Amino acid sequence: MTGIIIPEANVAIAGSDDRFPVRHIYCVGRNYPAHAREMGGNPEREPPFYFTKAADAVTASASVVNYPPRTNDLQHEIELVVALGEGGRNIGVKRALQHVFGYAVGIDLTRRDLQARAKAAGRPWTAGKNFDQSAPLSAIEPVKAIGHPEQGRIWLAVNGDIRQDGDLSQCIWSVAESIAEISTYCELAPGDLVYTGSPAGVGALLRGDRVTGGIEGVGEISIDIR
Ligand code: MN
Repeated sequence: MTGIIIPEANVAIAGSDDRFPVRHIYCVGRNYPAHAREMGGNPEREPPFYFTKAADAVTASASVVNYPPRTNDLQHEIELVVALGEGGRNIGVKRALQHVFGYAVGIDLTRRDLQARAKAAGRPWTAGKNFDQSAPLSAIEPVKAIGHPEQGRIWLAVNGDIRQDGDLSQCIWSVAESIAEISTYCELAPGDLVYTGSPAGVGALLRGDRVTGGIEGVGEISIDIR
């Protein structure tokens, strides 16, 4: 025995004392047309792509999030998050939703200056996207409680001012299509989370900001930036 103990990353399940163990975090990029445009992309032509965050980047709703190092441009991206209860590879679109355990509200926190620098240099986005507490997440609502949300308001406010205000129905790639696509690159497994992309209106956060957000029919989240 090495004596090394690794704490398991996990998140709350609404209406239960059980916890959802987090294995891996996948994040879909540019999945809403207006956000793809504000990031300089073309929503008509780009196939879905993904990046990842470490499992221990998950941070419960109501947490204090420490402003991360090496950035002057921490930004918020409110997203529908899919929690997988079953895995697989080459999952077909028609069967993909059968792999979903539940849904939650997440914030894909981003060091936008580091991401922009990486893009310009043709380097990976890792430093911009994967850092401590970079994946705040609400309690997971099981499918058996809320079904599979395909439409509904998705919003985020900073200190009470609405910054992002969209609808799940605006997604370029559906939840089923995103699961199917990622499963062609690597085998998905129970405990995997998929952050499914953010509507337009992403912007900077400052120390002292209170961030609130929600998705109609799924839940709400709040964090404080310190
Ligand atoms: Mn995102």
